[in-house]
Amino acid sequence: MATRRASAGAHSDLAAPEVRIDQLTGQRVILAPGRAERPDAFAPARPQAREESAESCPFCEGREGRTPPEVWASRPDGGEADSPGWTARSVPNLYPVLVPAEEAGAGDDAGAAETGLASSVDPLRQSSRVRQPNLFASQPAVGEHEVIIHAPEHVTSLADLSEERFAGAVAAWRERMRAHADSAAFLHLIVNEGRDAGASLPHSHAQLYALSFVPAEVARERERTGAYHERTMGGHLLSDVATEEVRRSERLVAVDESAILVCPFTDPGWTVTLDRVAGVVTETGGLLSHAAVICREYGIPAVLAVPRATERIRDGQIIVVDGGHGSVELVG
Ligand SMILES: [Zn+2]
Repeated sequence: MATRRASAGAHSDLAAPEVRIDQLTGQRVILAPGRAERPDAFAPARPQAREESAESCPFCEGREGRTPPEVWASRPDGGEADSPGWTARSVPNLYPVLVPAEEAGAGDDAGAAETGLASSVDPLRQSSRVRQPNLFASQPAVGEHEVIIHAPEHVTSLADLSEERFAGAVAAWRERMRAHADSAAFLHLIVNEGRDAGASLPHSHAQLYALSFVPAEVARERERTGAYHERTMGGHLLSDVATEEVRRSERLVAVDESAILVCPFTDPGWTVTLDRVAGVVTETGGLLSHAAVICREYGIPAVLAVPRATERIRDGQIIVVDGGHGSVELVG
């Protein structure tokens, strides 16, 4: 990565984030020069870095003036905007990847949502009457980029939030996604923790990107799911794949009403499988991880964070999973 000073010079003609098109794949890439100016609270890995950052953390209650003015906050007891008394709070990202349509300063269609695979400025979509397509076409990266602060206290991990604060954080995500649902083509919410994940501040927060286009991979999935739905007169692609896997039983270890899933961890791709098992054992995770949340929802026992579970439990082995006590017993 270039130094701040050098990158500021190199991109002196690029004032705002823009979408560029990869000429070979047609994929969009957002270039946001302002990101190079971010503070890097994690960078000085000195012993007292953590305490120092807590003392000066702009996301902590009482330092509301150090963030851009809030666009939303949960204040159960009321109170002024940008003052203490909130439980979750949303502010525009100080170093946005996206710019609001009214600030983009482009044509009338700057904010128009694009739902297809190709960008409207993709050189291959331009009129054939233009002799030489503009291979370096770009457009303003229009949208909203918010930071949702999960708690007023300086908590540095989502998993360390109290149950009440966690519920408040999820409610905040939903609230803000709802606020952008009508104007955005695609909403992308991430929680990045730690320097390795690209977070520049340790205080637990999420980033919400309200994009004016649908990312190519998601657009492709939507197209295929939609085409499948139409072709099968109402079929659901993901659910039918899972059903067919069970019918073929070629790649299934076991599935019946007493099958236990033992795996390193689960993510949304596993949800269909979790609906068909009697219990779950994972090697990683905790109270708030995907497997725990879904199993609670489905009412099936789950024991998480069992070291080397996939090695210690053999395929076909009979085990008893006690979700209440968090125990796994090897029977035979
Ligand atoms: Zn803080």
